[in-house]
Amino acid sequence: MTTRRQTFRLYPNKAQAKALFAARRLHCYLYNACVSHRQTEYKLGNKSVDYYTQQNALPAFKKEWGEFAALNSQSLQGTVKRVDLAYQSFFSGLRGKPKFKSIRNYSGWGYPGKSGWKATTEGQHGTLTLNDLGITLKMRGKAKEWAIPGTLMIVFKPSKRQWFASFTVEVATIEAKFGSESDLKYESIAAYDLGTETALTLFDGTQFETVENPRLSHKNDEKVRNVAKQKRRKRAPKKGVKASRRWKKINQREANLKAKVARQRKDWQHKVTSDIASRYDIGVTEKLNTKGMTHTAKKGSKRSVRETGSPAKQLSKKRKKQKAGLNKSILSVGFGTLNKMITYKIEQKGGLVLQLPTRIIKPSQRCPKCGAVHKEWAELKNRYHVCSACGFEVPRDQGSAMVMYNVATHQQPGLGTSLASLGCFSATSETRKTGSMRQLGQKKRQKSNQLDGNGVLETPSAYAVG
Ligand SMILES: [Zn+2]
Repeated sequence: MTTRRQTFRLYPNKAQAKALFAARRLHCYLYNACVSHRQTEYKLGNKSVDYYTQQNALPAFKKEWGEFAALNSQSLQGTVKRVDLAYQSFFSGLRGKPKFKSIRNYSGWGYPGKSGWKATTEGQHGTLTLNDLGITLKMRGKAKEWAIPGTLMIVFKPSKRQWFASFTVEVATIEAKFGSESDLKYESIAAYDLGTETALTLFDGTQFETVENPRLSHKNDEKVRNVAKQKRRKRAPKKGVKASRRWKKINQREANLKAKVARQRKDWQHKVTSDIASRYDIGVTEKLNTKGMTHTAKKGSKRSVRETGSPAKQLSKKRKKQKAGLNKSILSVGFGTLNKMITYKIEQKGGLVLQLPTRIIKPSQRCPKCGAVHKEWAELKNRYHVCSACGFEVPRDQGSAMVMYNVATHQQPGLGTSLASLGCFSATSETRKTGSMRQLGQKKRQKSNQLDGNGVLETPSAYAVG
């Protein structure tokens, strides 16, 4: 079974919207309380607080703060878990330190199990009942695939002031056509290189295909800059100062503009990836570390040194600028997103996407014809490659796509022939750990061994909310 997310728009009436906003506010308070708790304990030099300590403190918390008692306890646990996940990714260096969240932008809350809510729908429109709030909401939308939903997220989009219900459903997994290396068929195979000049360069054994970077955001950059400038001249909200009506108005216009750019980009991404996925059963690409590539070259910050592996201090001014430009281009194409979209679309029809290890294959440094590796090709400014060993000439991106195609079809000179030995057969089955909410729904409350004495935190000061 595969888990899919299906989202419907909610249409609350005035009273229902009020209840939703109230619940959202409480969840935001809880989130901030948990962050505060962790920060306070850390400052006091006590043991670090883990998820179960906070989860087990919830009953006492509810006793102290009565308004939380009405809310679904699993959904409260979900919010506590959110804080835990934020800290986990902070500890692993993926994100910055969790901050207090403003109620203005707080996104919502979730129900990690099947209890506490009921969706009445056949996959198109219908109603949603939230037991803890005692409301039944009108719901509109159409699910691509529908089954009995397992979890629910209530999401608020502040820019549009719209509410959404996002369910996960378990749908049948499509049987993979290619289980092992010997199953591979070469008629329907395409290698693609994701780049910045050209968004995508594809090679299917006979011909090349290029997809140009639309640079949508560049087109709209001026408009966005203009609106931002106007916004700066209006009275923004501060502590004790309300935003002016003009600020609110221009703020809304800015949000609409940004949303439009995002929609355009998404539309373009779907068109490009659907087209490729519909024509090929096997995709070949390189395993990219976009995180390292897109990370801004901050002034000698520890972070960028750690993530890019090179001291940012040593970057010359020019290179910094180049890197910033590269970042912008990568982000505006949604580099990783394209790859992910192609992968899931091909896998959805039973195909396979091979992710080749970049460091071993070196697609952009290797000559597709003789296999010689040219270090100087790695520099991004070298757009056209001429092999000094065999004289083969090829544009950079096309060369990369060719090398990857050759590797997948066992034709690349200078490299071993087995794909399994390159470790790329299991790459596609690697998925991100997203089951945390679901696991939470299945887990019972556990006693944390970090609790001492009566085990609950009674000091409301640790829960300084507001
Ligand atoms: Zn060569």
